[in-house]
Amino acid sequence: MHQNKTIKLAKGREQSVLRFHPWIFSGAIKQMDKDIADGEIITVLDYQNNILAKGHYQSGTSIAVRILTTEEEEINASFWHKRIKNAFEYRKNILHLPNNTTSAFRLIHGEGDRLPGLIIDVYHHTAVIQCHSLGMVKVQNLIKDAVIEQSAGMIQYVFTKNKESLPNAQNEDQWLTEEGPTPIKVYENGHTFLVDVVKGQKTGFFLDQRDNRQMVGEYSKGKSVLNLFSYTGGFSIYALKEGATKVTSIDVSKTAMSACDLNVAETDFANDHESITANVMEYLKSDEIPPYDIVIVDPPAFAKSVAKRHNAVQAYKRLNMLALDKVKKGGLLFTFSCSQVVGTQLFYDTIVAAAIESGRNIRVMHHLSQGADHPVNLFHPEGHYLKGLLLAVE
Ligand code: SAH
Repeated sequence: MHQNKTIKLAKGREQSVLRFHPWIFSGAIKQMDKDIADGEIITVLDYQNNILAKGHYQSGTSIAVRILTTEEEEINASFWHKRIKNAFEYRKNILHLPNNTTSAFRLIHGEGDRLPGLIIDVYHHTAVIQCHSLGMVKVQNLIKDAVIEQSAGMIQYVFTKNKESLPNAQNEDQWLTEEGPTPIKVYENGHTFLVDVVKGQKTGFFLDQRDNRQMVGEYSKGKSVLNLFSYTGGFSIYALKEGATKVTSIDVSKTAMSACDLNVAETDFANDHESITANVMEYLKSDEIPPYDIVIVDPPAFAKSVAKRHNAVQAYKRLNMLALDKVKKGGLLFTFSCSQVVGTQLFYDTIVAAAIESGRNIRVMHHLSQGADHPVNLFHPEGHYLKGLLLAVE
């Protein structure tokens, strides 16, 4: 049987593993076998040589090991089948995904599906793999096979897209099967979207906002809506189809705005929609923008690391001050942060700081989060990356 190389932890550093946290930081390592390659599957030992876990090793980053299992099992083809089967079952039996109205969902959400370093999004018959560790890149063909087989005929095409998430992996974005169709027409809560998995951002669409888009739709009837950082118009389409009188979508990316126009064209409400290609921060400084009934603020992650957290918080504050200024009296603000390192309380406090500056009376209507197809491993609270608030602004 194949014997993995081993990594031994310093005394006391086994505690986080025993509490099922899926990461081992490089500082916890006391000793390791020679010549462990990046992406290799290794066995983790405590200071007394007891086996704690198996995982993917990576040098040069603070997370040295991403744990795949704490049980006695081999990490082989049948392991990938088992985990992917489990992920499909959770989506199918509990979330009822896919279904007649929703054909796009997240199949694997890293730590939330006990597969740290791996993201898989499904768009109808296509799965898109995004690896955040070299270990996952190395086994992506095994993963592809497991996804196709466990999908029971649903998945025919698999695209792997790691350039953005792992710029140094020297790995091309490519089809692992025959080439699939692009763009792909998907349904989300009965709304139609065209998703370009090859040229689009991330895996092609921001599936984590599905439930929040539904909520925007519910409040949109008879309202004017300003969708900031709109990407391909996710929130805009729901608002238009649920009876908004006017929707403005703004994004800095021209490609995103063209895709947004195509999505709007699929509805009967193109006349009620305006797309603007602009930098939101610049745009909001203009005095000529009328106030809207509903304003949505869904920026990209401002902080990708703890070191960037302070600046990110300042940016969220400035942005939300400007956005609050554009909310009509009695209107709503949907505001989000998808920075993992900006926690729920910090995000809340930042919005409070912005609101104080606005001098307006504000109520919290809902605390918002990512959808349940982006589950959070209970032992890894960092997995709760998308935070949002729905505020009623007087
Ligand atoms: N709300 C979207 C997802 C937003 S992702 C949805 O539901 O699909 C963040 C978006 O912000 C990306 O489309 C990116 O192009 C855009 N963006 C980044 N910086 C920007 C800026 N300064 N001004 C406007 N858009 C920006």
